[in-house]
Amino acid sequence: MRSISHWINGELVDEGDEALPVVNPATDQQIAVVRTAGPGIVRRAVDAAEAAAEGWARTPQSKRAQMIFRFRELLLEAREEVAALITAEHGKTLDDAAGEVSRALESVDLATGGPALAQGATSQQTGPDIDTKSVLHPVGVCLGITPFNFPLMMGMMMAPVALAAGNTFIWKPSEQDPGAAVKIAELFQRAGLPDGVLNVVHGRQETAELLIDDPRVQAVSFVGSSAAAQAVYSRASALGHRAQTFGGAKNHLVVMPDADLDVVADQLASAAFGAAGQRCMAVSVAVVVGQSDQRLLDHLRSRATAVRMSAGDVPGTDVGPVVSRQAQERIRLIVKEATADGARVVVDRSAETVPGYESGYFVGPTVLADVPLTSRAYQEEIFGPVLVVLRVDTLDEAIDLIRRHRYGNGGSIFTSNGAAASRFEREAPVGMLGVNVAIPVPVASYAVQGWKASVFGDTGLNNASWSFYTRPKYITSRWESTVGTDFGFRPN
Ligand code: NAD
Repeated sequence: MRSISHWINGELVDEGDEALPVVNPATDQQIAVVRTAGPGIVRRAVDAAEAAAEGWARTPQSKRAQMIFRFRELLLEAREEVAALITAEHGKTLDDAAGEVSRALESVDLATGGPALAQGATSQQTGPDIDTKSVLHPVGVCLGITPFNFPLMMGMMMAPVALAAGNTFIWKPSEQDPGAAVKIAELFQRAGLPDGVLNVVHGRQETAELLIDDPRVQAVSFVGSSAAAQAVYSRASALGHRAQTFGGAKNHLVVMPDADLDVVADQLASAAFGAAGQRCMAVSVAVVVGQSDQRLLDHLRSRATAVRMSAGDVPGTDVGPVVSRQAQERIRLIVKEATADGARVVVDRSAETVPGYESGYFVGPTVLADVPLTSRAYQEEIFGPVLVVLRVDTLDEAIDLIRRHRYGNGGSIFTSNGAAASRFEREAPVGMLGVNVAIPVPVASYAVQGWKASVFGDTGLNNASWSFYTRPKYITSRWESTVGTDFGFRPN
């Protein structure tokens, strides 16, 4: 059985406490084992990251950027291997996994620009013969805790910028699909990264907490469910660490009366069912404004029925399984509960099995209309291929639905009316907003960041991370000597 090891100080460390199975969700077969790190391994990882911190911070920015460039080339070469690894452990299709590698590469591209982006400022004559400048220091040992649904991309939205800014990094990937993180550490080593600068430690909540609790850790980035994000934010900030933690979502897509329903149905089906609904920017609620929902439901029924569900490595598959048996059972139960709550079933493929993969954790595309707002299917993040369709009379009511929901990660509007679009842009309380774009994840040169219970902390990922991973210092200097005492407190 393949063992997925920790990566500490440039070496594989095949030790640990509990042995957890890593399972192919399409087959229910164990494909690897991963051991959880206890206090000893966590200490070794932080020791390594701390020992490497000073040397790495003193490494010239251009040298750091060159290593990230080399890593980029290696990741590009290993693209298919990494995508296959993601598909085997996560279940998403090879095409979707390749897309994840591409988005990850965009974040790496951003980090290669470190020397241009991590700049301070200088002003002359801010007082008599006085200059003022700001410089950006690395913060030190940074920790990244990432979710199962993007086993590569979320870590790549953290580590490359942190490293480019001169920090060392410990990555605790999800225990459900931990293989990609170790592959990344190996590629970074081949790119010339010194030992200890990037470390990978495996485990569940307990391991994450041991890492957070180490006082040598300076900054914690987390992506996962909102309950865990809030817990990590509280724990890390109570210890005086910087923290940025990103949580769950319930993204609404508003369909205005002038939208082209063919286009909307294609976009909705892709955004709701792609990756089996396991994206933080998946659309899980469609809000039809000022018209009957029947035409859209007819379109959606045909799209949902046509989705080809199978293992992610079977050619022609649109949608793979969900990540675990537990997720499969939870999603099926929420669909059953919604029906009991009075929802109208438009398509229900939630209990469907896939020939040849009967033991796989499949949940087919499902569309529910008239879901009561109190139902768990509307209130909670389902994180499965289940689309709730609601109907309201006005755009105000649609925006109000979003306003009243606890999550505010993403949201979008489909319309050809500029006035409606710009009102939605101004008023919808979400962090990532789309106009005729169903999954509006911004490019890496902007930031990934939600609002409300989708985020705790105030800096986003990607471009916004430069400020998170650097500490400013403000220097006031004078080189002309002055004589004479002055006991007042005056402007410079
Ligand atoms: P999860 O919260 O179960 O786990 C995320 C990571 O945190 C894992 O590495 C896990 O081991 C660890 N963990 C779990 N509980 C913890 C705790 N209390 N303290 C410290 N660490 C803990 O999430 P998941 O099921 O792996 O991922 C799916 C969730 O991630 C969804 O809610 C999805 O919306 C969210 N997500 C959000 C974004 C975003 O940008 N906002 C992006 C991707 C995924």
